[in-house]
Amino acid sequence: MLLKKQLQQIADIVGEDYFSSEEYMRKLYSHDVGALPNLVNDILKTQVDAVAQPTSPEVVSKLLQYCLKNKIPVIPRGHGTSGYGGALPTKAGLAIEMTRMNKIHNVDTSNMTVEVGAGIIWGNLIEELEDQNLTVRAYPSSAPSSTVGGWVAAGGSGIGSTKYGGVSDQIVDLEVVLPDGRIIRTSSPPDDIIEEFVKQEYNYFPSDDEYIWAIKEVEKDDFDLTSFFVDSNGTLGIITKVVLKIIPLHAIRPFVASFKTKEQMIWAMQEIMKETRPFYLHFITEGFNQMLTDVDMPTHSQHPWVFLCAFEGSKEQLDNEEASLKKIVDNNMGVLEPQEVAEHEWDERFYPMRIKRLGPSLAPSEVYVPLSNLQSFIERVDRHFKGESFALEGAVNNKGEVAVLAWFLDDERKTIAFLMGWYRSLDFIELGLKENGRAYSIGMWNVSHSRSFFGKKKYASIAQLKKKTDPKNIVNPNKVFPGPIQLSMRFNYLIIIAATIIAPVVLWLAGLWVGDIMAAYGLEWLAVTNLTSALVAIGIGLFAGVAVSEIANYVPINFMLTMGRPFLRLGRKIFH
Ligand SMILES: Cc1cc2nc3c(=O)[nH]c(=O)nc-3n(C[C@H](O)[C@H](O)[C@H](O)COP(=O)(O)OP(=O)(O)OC[C@H]3O[C@@H](n4cnc5c(N)ncnc54)[C@H](O)[C@@H]3O)c2cc1C
Repeated sequence: MLLKKQLQQIADIVGEDYFSSEEYMRKLYSHDVGALPNLVNDILKTQVDAVAQPTSPEVVSKLLQYCLKNKIPVIPRGHGTSGYGGALPTKAGLAIEMTRMNKIHNVDTSNMTVEVGAGIIWGNLIEELEDQNLTVRAYPSSAPSSTVGGWVAAGGSGIGSTKYGGVSDQIVDLEVVLPDGRIIRTSSPPDDIIEEFVKQEYNYFPSDDEYIWAIKEVEKDDFDLTSFFVDSNGTLGIITKVVLKIIPLHAIRPFVASFKTKEQMIWAMQEIMKETRPFYLHFITEGFNQMLTDVDMPTHSQHPWVFLCAFEGSKEQLDNEEASLKKIVDNNMGVLEPQEVAEHEWDERFYPMRIKRLGPSLAPSEVYVPLSNLQSFIERVDRHFKGESFALEGAVNNKGEVAVLAWFLDDERKTIAFLMGWYRSLDFIELGLKENGRAYSIGMWNVSHSRSFFGKKKYASIAQLKKKTDPKNIVNPNKVFPGPIQLSMRFNYLIIIAATIIAPVVLWLAGLWVGDIMAAYGLEWLAVTNLTSALVAIGIGLFAGVAVSEIANYVPINFMLTMGRPFLRLGRKIFH
């Protein structure tokens, strides 16, 4: 809990108008889009102490310096539309929300780039660019409400990624405030950061100065600091400006095709990726299609397996792509749906959660799998989650990977069953990994996949950067880099009280059932037989409770999630 004096000092830095420690704001800024089981809220310190909305990199810098000095955890935040726990507090602290840094600083039509404040909403940026006949190359389907900086930090792919790649392929340069308060440009990193990287890459000898500098010259250009901040979930610093690639505004022509079987649909998708260059290629499964009908939002497709394929370009390009698509759909016994169906599905691209009403809650999970393994992945998922209500959708990126999104229908009002259902999201990713896939985004919940997600070498580099710039782990703790979870006071007390009650009961039962064995080991004094021994047992319970609660505060989150999965799965069977 921050002291009153500290709250005031933070308010002074950011300005009273852009600061709040009111209860409703603290609650509001302690959530992301994922519905968190109540029990998790009870266990973790998932509420921030205050919210700051800085308006300039200099203010962000002062805030970070203050927080570093006072060891106050910082949680960078865009608009909280991600669901991987990246924007959730785990040790309370200060939420730094970036949406007031939302200006378009420069549109450079000679280099086809735009420089924006990291807190600008994608939808607003797209609208502004369209006025100048320009647009971005890719954007998330949460574009009406998510920020540019948030997508850079969370990583991933979106609409336009089938042609132009994921968010990492859109960035030219970033302005970042490092945890120590330095404001840097990732395209020209400071020397000490390069040195750190070179040190690690080449295992250099500190005495051999010439050797270091020689390598520095060679490596300075190759050193891609920008890429370190993509997918970093704000753990390496706060992104304050983003320079993005842009393109001339072209017409988009969407098509919807439907197929009787998943095999036909997937073959057609594979051919499309070989023969054409779609802007967006997105499919829904038969189950998803049925759920849309159940919520009175049918796709009106003739067959159950459906994809939406949109092309972007000049009229001539669009005509050519359209002709190729028609042939491919025909060859695979699909039906090209009427144009109004296609236009409708294109307009609905911003609303992937249309089936939520059936839940009433949705538990999502997402993983990349190669398009070549999509069929076996879907079959594997169907076998694994037989009996569960879920639906799948997915979009292909320019590397031939499909970001497959699972929506598990659930009901968060059923506290225990909802918590236990969490295993499905974790299992879904494991199933994807078995099909040569990779985690979609790390945040907090996928932290056990960090190493495989970034690759050993890159993970070592970003960990090194984190250690150098944030040795006290102040900025977004427990995200990307697994660390111990700090339990809430409430949960610590619960452990102690439970142990104090359980210990006397266990020792009383032990005295009744295995009293002889206890006596053989000289432990008969432990058995609860009268008031004095009951008090001793309570004392033991109290001691054990304090010890367990202390130890629990050192258990890393990835260990908790991995070890907890089988228990969740079993619990789900019992409580569902
Ligand atoms: C309907 C819907 C559709 C979606 N579609 C897509 C999609 O197509 N593709 C996709 O990849 N995701 C998608 N998402 C997930 C999410 O919207 C994206 O990850 C989004 O870009 C996050 O932006 P945000 O501003 O909400 O960031 P937040 O959720 O606030 O933050 C995300 C992460 O980034 C960090 N962060 C935020 N801003 C900064 C900053 N300036 N500096 C440093 N760190 C920062 C946070 O700490 C957190 O770890 C979707 C979500 C919804 C609800």
